[in-house]
Amino acid sequence: MNRTLLLVDDEASILHALVRLFHSEGYNLLTANSGEEALRLLANNEVQVVLSDQRMPQMTGVELLAKVKDLYPDSVRMVLSGYAEITAVTDAVNKGNIYKFLFKPWDNDLLRANVREAFDRFDLTQQGAQFSKIYENTVEGIIIADHGTLIRAVNPAFSIITGYAPEEVIGKTPALLKSGNHDKAFYQEMWSALEQHGKWTGEIWNKRKSGEIYPEWLNITVIRDSQGSVSQYVALFSDITEHKRNEERLRYQAYHDGLTDLPNRLMFGENLELTIAQAERTGQQAAILLMDLDHFKFVNDTLGHDHGDKLLLAVAERLKATLRKGDTLARMGGDEFTLLLPQIKDTDEIAAVIKKIVTNLTTPFRVGDDELTVTASIGISSYPQDGTTPEELLKNADSALYQAKEAGRNTYIFFTAAMTARAKERIVVENELRHALSSGEIEVFYQPKMRIRDQRITGMEALVRWNHPSRGLVGPKDFIAIAEETGQIIPLGKLVLEEACRQTVEWHRQGWDKLRVAVNLSAYQFRDEGLFDAITHILEQTGIDPHLLEIELTESVVMHDAEASIELLLMLKRMGIGLAIDDFGTGYSSLSYLKRLPFDTLKVDQSFVRDVTTDHHSAELVRTIIGMAHGFKLEVIAEGVETQEQLDFLRKHDCDVIQGYLLAKPLTAREFKLLLGARPEP
Ligand code: C2E
Ligand code: MG
Ligand code: MG
Repeated sequence: MNRTLLLVDDEASILHALVRLFHSEGYNLLTANSGEEALRLLANNEVQVVLSDQRMPQMTGVELLAKVKDLYPDSVRMVLSGYAEITAVTDAVNKGNIYKFLFKPWDNDLLRANVREAFDRFDLTQQGAQFSKIYENTVEGIIIADHGTLIRAVNPAFSIITGYAPEEVIGKTPALLKSGNHDKAFYQEMWSALEQHGKWTGEIWNKRKSGEIYPEWLNITVIRDSQGSVSQYVALFSDITEHKRNEERLRYQAYHDGLTDLPNRLMFGENLELTIAQAERTGQQAAILLMDLDHFKFVNDTLGHDHGDKLLLAVAERLKATLRKGDTLARMGGDEFTLLLPQIKDTDEIAAVIKKIVTNLTTPFRVGDDELTVTASIGISSYPQDGTTPEELLKNADSALYQAKEAGRNTYIFFTAAMTARAKERIVVENELRHALSSGEIEVFYQPKMRIRDQRITGMEALVRWNHPSRGLVGPKDFIAIAEETGQIIPLGKLVLEEACRQTVEWHRQGWDKLRVAVNLSAYQFRDEGLFDAITHILEQTGIDPHLLEIELTESVVMHDAEASIELLLMLKRMGIGLAIDDFGTGYSSLSYLKRLPFDTLKVDQSFVRDVTTDHHSAELVRTIIGMAHGFKLEVIAEGVETQEQLDFLRKHDCDVIQGYLLAKPLTAREFKLLLGARPEP
């Protein structure tokens, strides 16, 4: 802090003495031997305290200090002079131009103390000025009340917040702001806090002059005098109306879905908890419906998110129309909605609600230029049969929903205990499969294929088996689907492909060097971005001739994303790998479409082959397929040939190759080699 003391006296010896006196006080000292010189110094220096002689030749001390006051109004000005000058100075003291009159000759300690006090005074006025600035300009309301709680002063912010002018409240008690929102106990607690701790802080509702009730954050401090009795209460408060509004808005946002404005997952969870607690007390039943729009992803992907959002909004509106009093409809995210029915008598009542939902969704939706039909799959779980906690109920509704989707969508399914068993089973299989992949439990079996014309074995299909430690040999139907859902199909598929190639190369080296191995790829593998690299890598690693490797794909795999599929198929084809279409006849594709795809082989599904000798239709179909396939230059394999009659039929109608139990079941590598040894070479 700057502490400059200006000393003015026309007698050099006095100035000297004063400088010596204040030398050790740490002030910044300025000296002048006349009023004029003092003013010159003041033009370039800011001073806080001036100590001046009165009687000087051109300008008296009083005259000088009056000018100093103009320059530095906050400065503390004192005269140091003989007693004889007292009358000349008194007037100036009264006018406020001079703070104090000090006498010559002086007492050293007293003079030092007086100057120190002058600097303190300067500091105080500065702080006071700052305080009153704050008092005047702060946005917080301030009330100063006396020991009897009568209001003595209020600041402008008080008037802005409450609407009362100072003169309307001064002399009254703050009770005139009471809203009536708080009970006696509230104020009693406030007063006891003030008595005990000297302050109170908290939220309080007060009333403006207009009558409007508003929330404020209030801080009251008790000021006590040196004897310890209350002299003042100072209350500082801010209007938190806006803050509260924001809080409410945030709370609303936290509990609602931004798009549809419906309750969100969080609020649904809390409502569900309340519902359960209530149902527990009253012994009532409750139900939750978990809904998922069918093929919504398709809308989003093809029409864009904008349209997707519009559709969701429209669906939400229609679902709202099915609500009964007390029901909660929530959006859980994406295209998933939940309906909470807190009071249910029986399943008929649930079915009635579902019927209403389904009916409401039947009319197509108009989104932009498009008319869209929306169906939903619904899974239902009920309290208390299907669960007594929100987690359980939601999980089970989800299992039921999953089943509804599996069942072909646009349907609703009630949860059953069997579903949990299935879900548990899936988790067990998933974990065991992870282990199986690294512990050699996965084996590859080989089922031979025979050319009808010369009865030679041309190759074999690699079929995966899981040699489970306790369940024995497990077929692909029991674990491929789970492997697909969990992503384990990728490492599993690689393992099979690698082993099949390795084994085939070994047989090639042993002399059966024209054997072709066929490996199945599932849709998930086919869509995996790493597929091409994985195949390339395995070809290099095992050294198999790509022409002796064939990949089997079902129609649906290829049809799923036809354009992208063609790319990949062509890439494989260019490497020399053969492509077979598996289970032909069970999908939707037409032969004429398939001819655009680079397949070499068509495998007629066993369901047709099974019936060729007994069912006229199947026979006709198989004949047609063979004929058309040959027209497209495709080799035809008949799957699942079990009887000689079937083989005779197929030979008669020019089928190229057969595969089936008639020839052999899928065999271990050892068994397959024995079979090869027992037959003529290809
Ligand atoms: P798929 O590719 O159509 O394989 C033919 C299925 O028919 C095999 O069943 C085979 O054992 C069975 N089969 C063969 N001949 C006859 C017969 O004369 N009569 C009867 N009733 N069935 C016969 P499997 O091994 O249970 O495989 C089932 C399906 O699992 C396969 O159908 C294939 O789609 C899939 N799969 C098998 N191995 C793999 C694999 O390594 N990866 C992938 N992604 N899928 C595989
Ligand atoms: Mg196959
Ligand atoms: Mg097949």
